[in-house]
Amino acid sequence: MAAQTTKEERRQKVIEVLNEARAMELQAIGQYMNQHYGLDDMDYGELAGKMKLIAIDEMRHAEMFAERIKELGGEPTTTYPGKVSKGQAVEKVYPFDANLEDDTIDVYNQFLLTCRENGDSVSMKIFETVIEEEQIHVNYFDSIADNITKHGDAYLARIAGTSSAAGVGGSG
Ligand code: FE
Ligand code: FE
Repeated sequence: MAAQTTKEERRQKVIEVLNEARAMELQAIGQYMNQHYGLDDMDYGELAGKMKLIAIDEMRHAEMFAERIKELGGEPTTTYPGKVSKGQAVEKVYPFDANLEDDTIDVYNQFLLTCRENGDSVSMKIFETVIEEEQIHVNYFDSIADNITKHGDAYLARIAGTSSAAGVGGSG
């Protein structure tokens, strides 16, 4: 920590990375919701239901970052950093998402260090928690990508027509 930085400057640095992370979560929410509807349209119910649950994980992350930003006196961003990639074939969805999550983990590890350098252990802890959950997302997306690569149509045929019921209340 540079000796000259004031408490306020350090706080602003942390708010900045929390807001960048929040924007990335908003992007992921938009992307996964779009894929959820797409998978549902393609009749891959099981995959659609799981995608919806992962989108909801990202909503929790966006809220965790927002709550910490508010605690620090900042304003949570509502801006999406990029465009949602639409109309992806099922073969494209899973490598795409695994890559997105992998990049996110890398960036969040950098943000965690920024929090450490600026003396904010509470924000560090939030990044730690979120990174662990993103790793679970990577593992899931990788496993589906593998299934599709290895078993192709046989795997997809097994998923076709399955129920998309997910979460509390099933159809919610
Ligand atoms: Fe997330
Ligand atoms: Fe994620």
